[in-house]
Amino acid sequence: MIYPLKKLSFRTIFDAVADAMLLTDDSDHIVLVNPAAQQLFGYSAEELSGLAIEMLIVPRYRGQYQELFLNRPAKHSKSVGNELIALNRDGKEMLLDVSLSPIKTQQQLYVLITFNATNRRLDAEEALRGSEERLRLAKQAAGLGVFDYDFKHNIVYWDQQMRMLWGKPSEESISYEEFVAAIHPEDRAARQAAIDKAMDPASDGEFKAEYRVINSANDVERWISARGRVYFESGFAYRLIGVTRDITEQKILQRKLQAQRNETEKIIKQQVAARTASAIAHELNQPLAAISAYCEVVLHALLSDAFNSGDLRRALEGCVEQAQRAGRSLHELLAFLQKGELITEQLNLHDVINEALSIVYSDGYRRFHVVFHFEKNLPPVQCNRTQIQKVLINLFRNAIEAMDASDLPTLTITTTLHTLAGTKMAKVIVQDNGPGLDHDIAERIFEPFFTTKPTGIGMGLDISRALAEVNGGQLWVEPDAKPGAKFQFTLPFAP
Ligand code: ADP
Repeated sequence: MIYPLKKLSFRTIFDAVADAMLLTDDSDHIVLVNPAAQQLFGYSAEELSGLAIEMLIVPRYRGQYQELFLNRPAKHSKSVGNELIALNRDGKEMLLDVSLSPIKTQQQLYVLITFNATNRRLDAEEALRGSEERLRLAKQAAGLGVFDYDFKHNIVYWDQQMRMLWGKPSEESISYEEFVAAIHPEDRAARQAAIDKAMDPASDGEFKAEYRVINSANDVERWISARGRVYFESGFAYRLIGVTRDITEQKILQRKLQAQRNETEKIIKQQVAARTASAIAHELNQPLAAISAYCEVVLHALLSDAFNSGDLRRALEGCVEQAQRAGRSLHELLAFLQKGELITEQLNLHDVINEALSIVYSDGYRRFHVVFHFEKNLPPVQCNRTQIQKVLINLFRNAIEAMDASDLPTLTITTTLHTLAGTKMAKVIVQDNGPGLDHDIAERIFEPFFTTKPTGIGMGLDISRALAEVNGGQLWVEPDAKPGAKFQFTLPFAP
């Protein structure tokens, strides 16, 4: 059965609808408001009627929504996603879905507007506030300040963090001159140069500088790292926006490290000087001793009646030879210390060992004999001849001196030469039958200046190890070797 709808007027329906509804006239003014809309907006029907509809819209979005209403002859249903941010009486912003239904009568064009509160949070605004808050917290955590330097008006806008550093917490902007006045005078020129460079239209506009700022409120000096970018308009720089960071702690640490480095460098230089002097002494010791001995022979000969010109000549020739040797040694030592290019050649180690032994012999070390264990057909090594000779001479001399000091009837040096298994290296072993090395001493013998000899300098092994390493090998002492001491070093075969 169909009931007559006569009594169901438009007004009854309009007031009964659960959705908030408004009726506007041609000029967008409200003519009718249903109770749901009154409730939604918090105004009475009297207060709303006659008002322009845009009064219910948040001012900053009015322009944006104007189009929605201008297009009103077309129907807008909710589903098309027409959203609007409206204001209620308490100033609360509400995100509403809006549908528009034009109703044409003969005289007027009304628009029925239905609002539906959405469940979505309104939150362009809140999101913005949230992201601003996040940015603020991040800036705070990173100790970042933000500045915006307006070139045209010569004003710097800055945030709280920077204002605190400059000691002007309440000034939201200052003149550029005031801004610069707090910068340490020694740092101004470099900073200005960085700005000028960034302002050059041919540059990428990037600004980077580190400078000190003296807080005008308490005179405290802080280091600032500033980074930013210059913005250009029609080829002219008009703005520099950037961030600053307080890097004072970092600078203090850097200074401490630098001071430590300087101190270490000083110590190293002193050590190098001492080692160089000792190395020179080590090189000169032997020839000087020999020259002195030859000179004594000459003096003795001159004073004695048995004057033999042949002996005299030999002694003087010895002097000349030793003096030349001392000169050569110094020359080589200096070249080594200056770390010039290492001149290497293919060497038959067998020959180099024999050369070293004959030098040791001519130095007056005669009471010893050598046992050789040489691998047949050992390939040549690629090394500097004089340096390897020096290593061998040091090892032979040490061995003889150690054996000599313990009054042994026979002094034997066993020299072994073979390939270090599984490598492309030759290994040389120099072993004596002397007293050997105590554990404690063995641990220290490579230290510079370590010596147990009354006239020793303690540089021989230190220099020898360095020479072996410069030539691509290694030198070490075999612990607990019996009998005597067993030194070994390696050298690379020629490629
Ligand atoms: P120096 O010969 O001037 O003492 P070295 O650096 O050549 O300087 O040697 C350091 C020390 O190592 C020697 O004083 C000695 O105590 C010990 N040493 C070196 N070679 C031997 C060896 N073959 N036998 C026993 N001790 C040795």
